[in-house]
Amino acid sequence: MKSPVKAVALITGSSRGIGRGVAVELAGSGRFDVVINYAGNEVAAREAKELALEAAGEGGGRVELLQGDVSKDRARMIAFVSEKFGRLDLLINNAGVAPAVRADLLEATEESFDRLIAINLKGPYFLSQLAAKLMINSPAIEGIPKAIVNISSISAYAVSVNRGDYCITKAGIAMMTKLYAVRLAEFGIGVFEIRPGVIETDMTGPVKEKYDALFESGLAPINRWGQTADVAKCVSAIAFGHFPYSTGQVFQVDGGFHLRSI
Ligand code: NAP
Repeated sequence: MKSPVKAVALITGSSRGIGRGVAVELAGSGRFDVVINYAGNEVAAREAKELALEAAGEGGGRVELLQGDVSKDRARMIAFVSEKFGRLDLLINNAGVAPAVRADLLEATEESFDRLIAINLKGPYFLSQLAAKLMINSPAIEGIPKAIVNISSISAYAVSVNRGDYCITKAGIAMMTKLYAVRLAEFGIGVFEIRPGVIETDMTGPVKEKYDALFESGLAPINRWGQTADVAKCVSAIAFGHFPYSTGQVFQVDGGFHLRSI
C-alpha cells in the first residue's frame, strides 16, 4: 500500500536523459509527485510523463509537465510548482547543455561561453534561490528530508580543452553546492552534488565513438558506459534521507573514473 502523503520533486531537464531517469525513479517510489521540466522538446516530455505515470502505477503520485528555460523562466517555473502543489521538497538541478561546437580553448567564442553559463550555472544558481524559499515554507514530510541535488560532471575537475566553457560551468556548480549547503543547513535542506561520468544519453550521442574507444582502452575501473539509472539510484538514496548527517557531499557516479592509479 503506497503512502498517500506525497513529497514534490522538480527535476529540471527531465524530458530526456539523466533527468528522465530520475523522474521515473522518483515517480516509481510512490512517495513523490513529480514535475517534469523541459526546454522545447514536448514530444520527449510527454513520453517521459507516460513512463513516469507507468512507474507510479495506481496510488502513485501526480506527474506534471512544465515547459521552461532555466536560463530565463525561473520565476514562472517556481510559481507553477507553488500553484499546482503548494510545496516543494526536492529540486534536482539537472538541465544542462554541451557547447554547440567543441572548440579549442584558443578559438572558442564568448557567445558559447555566455550560453553555457546562462543555462548550466546561472540558471540553477538562481533557481535554487527561488526554490529554497518555497522549500523553507513547505511543512516537513516524515521520511523525506528536503534537498537540492546538483548534477555537475567529472568536468568539474577534469580538463577538456575543447569545451572549456562546459568545464567552467560544472566547476561553478561544485562551489554553488557548497554555498547553498552552508546557507540552507539551518532549514534542514541538504544540498548535494552528483558528478556523473560518461553516461549514455543524447548529450554523449555525437561523441559515442570517441568514448567507445576510450572504454576499450580502459577509461574507468568499472569499464562501461554509465546509464541514467546509475545516477537516478544515487538521487533516490539522497531523496530518501540516507545521508542525514551529510550536506555539501559530492557523489562520484563515474565508474571510479576519478581514481588515479600508478
Ligand atoms: P540530454 O540527454 O541532452 O538532456 C538534456 C535535458 O535538459 C533535456 O530534458 C532538455 O530539454 C533539457 N534542457 C536543455 N536546455 C534546457 C534549458 N535551457 N532549460 C530547461 N531544460 C533544458 O542531457 P543529459 O546527458 O541527460 O545531461 C543531463 C545533465 O547531466 C546535464 O547537466 C549534463 O551536463 C550532466 N552530465 C551529463 C553527462 C553525460 O555523459 N551524459 C555526464 C556528466 C554530467 P528538451 O528535451 O526540451 O531539449
